[in-house]
Amino acid sequence: MRPLELPQPPAWMTGALCAQTDPEEFYPEKGGSTAAAKRICQACDVRVVCLAYALDRGERHGIWGGVSERDRRAMTAEQRRNHPNSRPNTRAGQPADPLVDAEIMRLTHAGHSARAIATELGITHRRVQRARARNRPAQEVAA
Ligand code: SF4
Repeated sequence: MRPLELPQPPAWMTGALCAQTDPEEFYPEKGGSTAAAKRICQACDVRVVCLAYALDRGERHGIWGGVSERDRRAMTAEQRRNHPNSRPNTRAGQPADPLVDAEIMRLTHAGHSARAIATELGITHRRVQRARARNRPAQEVAA
């Protein structure tokens, strides 16, 4: 019998500063302070992709990218208000997230393949392709 294969964490998590600190700071009790975790996030090199990852997956708990669950809910609600017709693109039913798209396009312009980007961000290859299609420059579309 083959051993159970667990999903690999996305590559960016190797740069997570929180992995070197007390994880409890990032999951405070209700009403507890989030200040210490947010301070750590401000110094973290992977903050943008971390937040994009959490928004894309609809993470409900903890501090991700320096943003609390309450603030992420507000960001998602604002996104829905501003783009009411955007199609959900994840299992969590979140609308397309501009932060995730921006990170996908940044990595695309840096020459990374769609598969490498998917692995790096912990998202599907198809999600990368959709973001690329959404963000294709107008002249490329017309050509
Ligand atoms: S931004 Fe914050 S939560 Fe995200 S990996 Fe860095 S330290 Fe951890």
